[in-house]
Amino acid sequence: MSAAASLARAAFRPILDFALPPRCPGCGAVTAEPHRFCLACWSSLRFLGEPCCACCALPFAFGEGESVLCGACLAEPPAFDRLRAAVAYGEVSRKVALKLKYGGRPGVAETIARFMARHVESEEERALLVPVPLHRWRIWRRGYNQSALIAAALCGRTGLAVKLDLIERVKATPPLREMGPAERRKAVRGAFRIAPGHRPGLKGKTILLVDDVYTSGATATACARVLKRAGAARVNILCWARVVRGGDD
Ligand SMILES: [Zn+2]
Ligand SMILES: [Zn+2]
Repeated sequence: MSAAASLARAAFRPILDFALPPRCPGCGAVTAEPHRFCLACWSSLRFLGEPCCACCALPFAFGEGESVLCGACLAEPPAFDRLRAAVAYGEVSRKVALKLKYGGRPGVAETIARFMARHVESEEERALLVPVPLHRWRIWRRGYNQSALIAAALCGRTGLAVKLDLIERVKATPPLREMGPAERRKAVRGAFRIAPGHRPGLKGKTILLVDDVYTSGATATACARVLKRAGAARVNILCWARVVRGGDD
């Protein structure tokens, strides 16, 4: 498809979204109202919240009290200060993430931003929303960055300031799916930088880094390091789905 045709399609899509009946972002079933899951998808989503690790949101089976950390965060404190995710990564949350990633539906970004916005804390009211960037080759191919769509929708819902191009991905990284944690860390090393001219405003800032899925944390960690090095006081991660491995809870 030509660039002009894909632009025209992207511009036309919100109108189509508006004209068609609302659909469940999990399975595509028609729903009574927009931005709702159907009952089956809703009941299979695992919403995350307390009790959980104060840092990485790993669910705990029992309330252990506030500011309790999981074993992994105690052993090796993450480069970010806090992570919050709307749901655990599973069949439905994966489908939603894929729909956003390859379908580019702003409506899906709006739906999941509603669930993510509940995790924005009052101390983050002056935070700056920043999406995890894609490499420009990938943006050219796909036409958009799914994390930027979510960040823009979150800005609309929460009123927080947003800076879509604060971080740049200067190295195209291969898909991390098949890699182990050490390989992932190596693959994203040196992949990110603060976009030229954006560094001065970062000192002392709280950044709310927006991503779709949190898997090993390699990408979020690499971005958090770059932000901290540039003077950010706190880097919190907010994502749609977080991988929760069996046996953790
Ligand atoms: Zn559904
Ligand atoms: Zn933890």
